[in-house]
Formats: sequence, structure tokens, C-alpha cells
Amino acid sequence: MDYQLDTNCVQAGYTPKNGEPRILPIVQSTTYKYDTSEDMAKLFDLTSDGYLYTRISNPTNDAVAKKICALEGGTAAMLLSSGQAAAFFSIFNIASCGDHIVCCATIYGGSFNLFSVTMKRMGVEFTFVPPGASEKELHAAFRRNTKAMYGETIANPALTVLDIELYAKVAHEHGVPLIVDNTFATPINCRPFEWGADIVLHSTSKYMDGHASVIGGAIVDSGNFNWDAYADKYPGLTTPDASYHGVVYTRDFGQGGAYITKATVQLMRDFGSVPSPHSSFLLNLGLESLHVRVPRHCANALKTAEYLKGHDKVAWVQYCSLPGDKYYELAQKYLPNGSCGVISFGLKSGASSDGGRAAAEAFMKELKLISIVTHVADARTCILHPASATHRQLSDDQLAAAGVSPDLMRLSVGIEDVSDILADLENALKTVR
Ligand SMILES: *Cc1c(COP(=O)(O)O)cnc(C)c1O
Repeated sequence: MDYQLDTNCVQAGYTPKNGEPRILPIVQSTTYKYDTSEDMAKLFDLTSDGYLYTRISNPTNDAVAKKICALEGGTAAMLLSSGQAAAFFSIFNIASCGDHIVCCATIYGGSFNLFSVTMKRMGVEFTFVPPGASEKELHAAFRRNTKAMYGETIANPALTVLDIELYAKVAHEHGVPLIVDNTFATPINCRPFEWGADIVLHSTSKYMDGHASVIGGAIVDSGNFNWDAYADKYPGLTTPDASYHGVVYTRDFGQGGAYITKATVQLMRDFGSVPSPHSSFLLNLGLESLHVRVPRHCANALKTAEYLKGHDKVAWVQYCSLPGDKYYELAQKYLPNGSCGVISFGLKSGASSDGGRAAAEAFMKELKLISIVTHVADARTCILHPASATHRQLSDDQLAAAGVSPDLMRLSVGIEDVSDILADLENALKTVR
């Protein structure tokens, strides 16, 4: 049965049978019992369905993955213990030492470190392209060994909007998939598969959980990328896997199942970045209200962005749903019903020799309702100064490339009464000279 997105937020993934618990049970068991060794052998050969070991599969985790799969409109999905693990798996599943990825430069700082330092050490090289790169510039970034394109629907914290359709077109012309981190937009505001993306990932720690309670990640496959058509590029999916007696993922699990099955039985088996079933249960509670919370975040953020834009002590505001924003047109195309609750802005007094670092920190000290936290995109309004926190390892040049100026404050607007949020900002702005 096909339901609307809002219904899927509440109900998808778990349908109890007669007499079973109405609420998704927490299966807090590492292991599963079988009657014979033969039953178990079939599981280890991947020739029969069933639960093997919670690192590979667990009923609670699988139900929540199914819900996220339904929300994004994919064919298969998996949960991971963090968004970082999701970013790593999404790429490492199809690229290894000697391979190359074309990546939008404005991405989450943690992903940037992962790609530019850690994965580089593993032999996977990334070319970072500016968010506004033309089609020609995107093509020019490709190499013979390029295996994927990567970007964020709305970048954290640069708040650039990815031209998904353009990226997908270029990726497909080179015979590689487009991987999109859809964390900030959520499937409520954008479903990247509808614009040609092939793989979507999430840090579920943000709006999906929504309460800043559990770190988690998810990867969803659209099932649209034809790995077999580029079999020479993706031997891991199209040739026998010796660690499973010669399973061929595309042949044995089909185009819609190959990518997630491989990521689960190979990468999850080996790296073990699995969420606890209890965490997945909490994530599911968050998902049940995602469709109610996200529009409220967006409405509050728009009002807050308008307020800041009109304030004489504020130098600049970036929010892609605000008319006049550099990414307004792209946001209207991909996120017509709202973008996210995150705004960035800088103060006029920030035009000093330290690039505005001190002014931002002084202003933030005066906030009372709005708290200074690393986290973003949850129910409580919070603020961060990336140049002194998440992005402090980056040089000024790297900051600029990532779309983060030294004075940038990232304001994550929550779902409180917006008048209280504005009053807190007003009070702190009064202290700014
Ligand atoms: C937070 C975040 C991540 C990393 O996720 P964790 O759950 O913190 O590991 C990745 N991408 C984006 C866009 C994020 O905001």
C-alpha cells in the first residue's frame, strides 16, 4: 500500500501482525537462535533471509531503515551509528585505493576532513569543486578513475543549495552515480531521487531524530543506477565476492538491492558502525513527528532571517528561502515548501582584523534562550561559531573554499515560539557596538 509522506513518517517500516506489539519492539539481542547448523550456514552464504548477528541485521534497526527508505522513495536502506559512518560507507562501497571522487566544496566540516585527510590516506582522492561551478567546470573535474559525485542538498554550514539535476546529469554522462547528503533538507522538503540523485545519505542525528538525543546515520539507494552497464568501474558490485563464496551483488540482489547489500554484509561486517537497537527506537520516535516539526522549523527560520536582515547591526544574512539570497532560485526549484531551520549571519562590527571572530563570540555570550552547542537542527534553538569550533582546523583559505567566513554564525532555529527567539537575539544585539 502506498501512503503519503506524512503517513509514512508515522507508520512506515513496521506493521504488526495479529496480537503483536503495536509499537516497534526494541530487539535488544546481539544474536538469533536457529534449529540446525544448516539453517545458519545458508545465512552465512547469503542464500536465505534471516537475522544473523546484530552487527549485520536487527529487526528494530531494519524497521527504521525501511521507514527512511520509504520517505526517500528508495529500494533499499541501512542505518549506521553516525552520519560520518554513512558518508564514509556511501563512498567506500564503490571506491577504493586509486579511485577519485568529484565533490562539491561546500560540505559539512567533518565530511571534509574525512574526505580530504583520512580517505586521502586510504588512497581515495577528492577534487573539490565550487558550489556554483558551471557544467563545463564540473566536467573538467572528472578523471578516468572517477567513481562518484558527491554533494549536500543544503550544505552545513555554508547553506549553499546543490543543483542536483545538473550534478546528476554530469555524473551520468560520465557513468558514475550522484551521492547526496540530504541531512538538512530531509525528505519532507526535498527528495533528491526525484531530481536524478542515485544514493542519498543522512546524519539522522539532526532533524530526523530532532531532539539531539541520538547520533546516527542512514544510506538509501534509489535503485536507479545501472552498475552492470559500467561493470568495469564497479567490480566490487559486479564480480564475485570471495568472502561470500562468490556472491555477485548485482546478479544475486538485483539493481535495487546490490549496493546496500554489499555495504551491509561487507563494510558493516568489517567496520562495525552499527547503531544500537535502542538508539534506532529513539530515532523512530523522532521520525514519527518529522513532517510536523520541519515546517515549523522553516517558518520560524524565515521569520528570524527576515528580522536579522532588517537589523542595522547585522552585516549579512544567508538563508536560501529568503528572497534575494544567492541560492533563492535554486531553493525555489528544489525546496519550494521550505528549506531548513538553519540560518547564517555576520555582524557589522565584525569587519575587524580578526575577520570578526571576537565580535561573534562577544555577541553569542549575551544569548540566554539560544544556547551555544556544536549540534544543529534539533527542537531547541542553538548557535555555533564554526571558525572557532567545528572548522577551527581549517586555514582561512580552506574556510573560504568551504563557504565559511571567519565571522559566520550558524543559527539553528528551533520550534519554540518565534517571538521568544527574536527577543533573545534583540537583547544580545543591543550589546553589540
Ligand atoms: C552532522 C552532519 C554529518 C555527520 O553526522 P554525525 O551524525 O554527526 O556523524 C554529515 N553531514 C551533514 C550535512 C551533517 O550536518
